[in-house]
Amino acid sequence: MSYSSKPKCLTYPDATRAFADENVRDDINDACARLGQAMSKMMERFDSVAKQMHTLDLQRLAAPLKPRWDALSKEFRELLWQYRNNAGVISGRLKMFCTSVLPIAARNLNGRSRQTYEETVKVLQAFMSISAEHAALTRTLLDRALAFLQQMVAFHAELAKLVSRQSTTGQREIYELAVKLSDLEAQVGQICILNLEVPRPDVTHVTYSTFKIVSSSGRRPGRSKIPQQRMTVLIGLAPNGGLYIPEHIPKLPENWLTEWKDYSFVDLSVAVLSLYISPEEISKEELRSLVQKSYSTFRHPDVTPLHKLDDKTFVLELFHGPTFAFKDVALQLLGNLFEFFLLRRNAKKGPEETPETLTVVGATSGDTGSAAIYGLRGKENVSIFILHPKGRVSPIQEAQMTTVTDSNVHNIAVRSTFDDCQDIVKALFADKEFNAKHHLGAVNSINWARILAQTVYYFLSFFHIRSQLPAGTSADDIEIQYVVPTGNFGDILAAYYARKMGLPVGKLVVATNANDILARFWKHGKYEKVDSESKADVIVSVDASGVKETLSPAMDILVSSNFERLLWYLAYEHASGNTDEEKRQEACATLDGWMNKVKTNGRVEIPVQALETARKDFIAARVSDEETLATIKAFFDGQPSYVADPHTAVGLATARRLQPENADNVRQIVLSTAHPAKFSEAVSRALEGSPKFDFDRDVFPPELRGLLEKERRVIDVERPDINLVKAVIESFAKQ
Ligand SMILES: *Cc1c(COP(=O)(O)O)cnc(C)c1O
Repeated sequence: MSYSSKPKCLTYPDATRAFADENVRDDINDACARLGQAMSKMMERFDSVAKQMHTLDLQRLAAPLKPRWDALSKEFRELLWQYRNNAGVISGRLKMFCTSVLPIAARNLNGRSRQTYEETVKVLQAFMSISAEHAALTRTLLDRALAFLQQMVAFHAELAKLVSRQSTTGQREIYELAVKLSDLEAQVGQICILNLEVPRPDVTHVTYSTFKIVSSSGRRPGRSKIPQQRMTVLIGLAPNGGLYIPEHIPKLPENWLTEWKDYSFVDLSVAVLSLYISPEEISKEELRSLVQKSYSTFRHPDVTPLHKLDDKTFVLELFHGPTFAFKDVALQLLGNLFEFFLLRRNAKKGPEETPETLTVVGATSGDTGSAAIYGLRGKENVSIFILHPKGRVSPIQEAQMTTVTDSNVHNIAVRSTFDDCQDIVKALFADKEFNAKHHLGAVNSINWARILAQTVYYFLSFFHIRSQLPAGTSADDIEIQYVVPTGNFGDILAAYYARKMGLPVGKLVVATNANDILARFWKHGKYEKVDSESKADVIVSVDASGVKETLSPAMDILVSSNFERLLWYLAYEHASGNTDEEKRQEACATLDGWMNKVKTNGRVEIPVQALETARKDFIAARVSDEETLATIKAFFDGQPSYVADPHTAVGLATARRLQPENADNVRQIVLSTAHPAKFSEAVSRALEGSPKFDFDRDVFPPELRGLLEKERRVIDVERPDINLVKAVIESFAKQ
């Protein structure tokens, strides 16, 4: 579409012609993507100017320039965010316009009178809220912004020159620079004023907020669409790209402390889950049988037993499930929930209708894939395809996956890297046709049901620790401190929900490895992929995406996908709205702004009050690989001796670090997320030279012993080619 010299209103025939064209629609998408890229480039420039000014200011030759630059760039950044949001809204609206409004309008317009025709055109224009005035203003604004950018580039070049020969920089040159800066300031000021005149697209009728809030059992007993909605909730992302959170966090029943105190894991699961799931969705009896079935695969009668190390330190062992890692706790239940919902939906179908199926597809470098396979093996109407890079997962992990011979489980070994596998999976999900044909599903870590399943062991360990106290200690006098080895923030988020429900525990401790985005967040309130405060971090190797490879690989992440959920609550607590609904809307909008910054800019800094709130609930720390190894050794040498896996060791190291500051009544519960046999390399490295240590005798569980010799089933794919993978899925998936 080219701009005509004299702007006019967009008329219906114009619009029909323009939007019927696929290229135009593609252009709109492209333009938005390009806008995003251009913006992040601009941000980088703002940052590098700020850094160079700082260098210049350090010479103290004139009044400091950097604070002025910071103020200017802050203003300009805000403008840009607004542009971007506007662009997002407009492109969303255009898409909706093309796909739903136009076809209906066209139908209604056929054969109507002139008057109806004109009325409809007006409605369409109003829907687009694009007027001649709006278009003209927007264009002026854009021109000004572009002019500003050009000058900024020139200004930057001059500044860079000065900085590079800093020893000879004189006051006069800095004075000249300051004058130019004033000019730029004036321009930004003008753009801001002009910007105020542009009518905002009103966002109310575009689904734009990041969060779709799901109903909890308490508020909406309605039964109309719930099974379908539940299914979506189970599968993951909300349709608008956000994450689901419960509509309300339910409070514990009044008598929970006495009533639940001797409950088993299964009893507690039913009690906790039914606070969120209404009996219309899943009856109590059905829920109990699902939970029972899910945890019957665990080797320990307590499911997640609490192991005492000393009077003040306990380990909550989450690794007694089929794959020896904590993801089993959630995925065993999730598999049964999938099956349950599919069976129920299919039961409503007639005998001649084809049953509905689900095809779970995922890529793994180890743990998640095997936990998902064990969660879904043998489930009716579900098939699962897990891609792994051939020869690049540990032998134990590979054996765990490929020795599952159920007919619905398909391991695909791709002769390639993990990143390639992941790209293939992403491309499969993006392929609408393929997706619709096979009903693809994911079991990723943002799945709400996984979080919910994980709240249970916080309750269980709370009761267990109280029952293990020595005589003379009153249970009500102790304070429990949970220390959680953290990657995607799912496990600890479950603790946050438990605490919000009313579980009386102290601050929650986030323990990270060198991938410390979360530890840094609690330090200075910046959520940023790359540490802007530290000079260089050269001790550990970094892969292409910037993730650091550590001894605790299940926590090697760049950003924590569930952290978004906590940010929503922080935004909500500081929202200014009068009603709860207003506050929620505001929280969605705030979060949207924050996440957009992370997406475009690689970082966001949240307001200091919100950071303070986060600090009331959490402490965070980072543990290096050296400390991890030393901790494994220290606990092995301890009394009683305990062999921790490297993830657990990150938690133990953090716990030890906090101990001197803790009050006397604090009891620490460290979550143990994997069995040490799964990470034999790190454990052996930490304990080599310990004469008492024998890996096979001390660590290797009998269940894993025969595994390497068992029959395997795996489909080899020779190169990372999506069509080869599609062909495999086509030939095996249940349809
Ligand atoms: C997934 C995983 C973690 C991290 O849990 P999050 O919920 O992602 O924070 C820690 N340890 C192990 C062994 C894991 O598999």
